[in-house]
Amino acid sequence: MKQIPMMDLKLEYEYMKRDINLAIERCLAHQKWIFGPEVEQLETAVAEYIGVKHCIGVSSGTEALVLSLRSLALELKGQEYFDKSDKIITTSFTFTATGDAVLRAGATPVFIDIDHVTYNIDLAKIREYLIHNSSNVVGIIPVHLYGQFCKMDGIMELAAEHNLFVLEDVAQAFGGMWKGKKLGSIGNIGAFSFFPSKNLGGFGDGGMVSTDNDKLAEIVKMLIKHGGKNKYNVDHIGYNARLDTLQAAVVLAKFKYIDEFNKNRRRIAEIYNRGFVGLHGIILPCSTLTLPEGHVCNQYTIRVTDGRRDELQHCLKGMGISTMVYYPVPLHKMKVFKGRGEIFSVLKESERVVNEVLSLPIEPLYQEETICQVIHAVKGFLNKK
Ligand SMILES: *Cc1c(COP(=O)(O)O)cnc(C)c1O
Repeated sequence: MKQIPMMDLKLEYEYMKRDINLAIERCLAHQKWIFGPEVEQLETAVAEYIGVKHCIGVSSGTEALVLSLRSLALELKGQEYFDKSDKIITTSFTFTATGDAVLRAGATPVFIDIDHVTYNIDLAKIREYLIHNSSNVVGIIPVHLYGQFCKMDGIMELAAEHNLFVLEDVAQAFGGMWKGKKLGSIGNIGAFSFFPSKNLGGFGDGGMVSTDNDKLAEIVKMLIKHGGKNKYNVDHIGYNARLDTLQAAVVLAKFKYIDEFNKNRRRIAEIYNRGFVGLHGIILPCSTLTLPEGHVCNQYTIRVTDGRRDELQHCLKGMGISTMVYYPVPLHKMKVFKGRGEIFSVLKESERVVNEVLSLPIEPLYQEETICQVIHAVKGFLNKK
């Protein structure tokens, strides 16, 4: 039986083999494993691509979030960490790291419900929360989930009105856009991930921080190397959180293909959309046939609304088709956030979608025929009662 994995990194490697092998060979020749030339080359290339003054390579997307928050605490409060009374608004329907980073930076996450169409944080609910609770709120972390932008002008307006910082979690949306601007260039600071399953993935862990703010950039650069300009005499509580040369070299080689690959992701999402049109029992991503401009489809996620999500997943697995549930548990239901996070009102949509979402294979190099097999299998299941 032919297997259809969520993505096929071997296929991608074959496709870019020459570039990647050359990049690795150059590293083998120069042997500069820490802060080698590829790190700065990648930082410069991505900064130009995103349209920001500074990009700083870091060891993961999670660290990119923590470092961003720590730099904000240092810059805004003159403190190493936020205080527990400092609240940061974010979504409960995201990867663990988004909320965890808030705790690691000393602050309290406030989970606000999502919009049921985009699955991103609900702007109206943020506004509602801020009416009565703005006094301790210091910032907002919008997450561009599945490659889909948050409506950033509304978020930026609210932030300006209440004097809040905005940290964009761009882990799933490298290359994504909002009204002609690249995601990660709109808020005060942005956090990217090069985890292998992201749109721009390395051969291991890696991440990046983007910002126009010179001071934040300077602090992040210190924090990734133990907290000082000179690591033998440091100013702050730092980390060893550098992006290593080899990852930078691989990501830089793959970066050449990012626009082509993002375009292919959209092509695949459109094949799915057309294939599923009129099918009962599922809701398409963004609830529409046409993909919004700027969506980079890190995932193609349907909602199975007839209560048979797990059954469908099991059935597809039996046919060799991999699927994933991103995410099965909303953050506010996790033990780690009990007593450490706040919930605004009820998170009805977040609690509903965790039981309905199913992400289907999306690999930029898959042929139409492969996607049609998945469509056929999903249709077959849903049409039999
Ligand atoms: C993947 C991801 C992260 C963390 O990135 P890592 O590189 O795995 O540490 C953070 N936020 C979101 C939304 C993610 O999808």
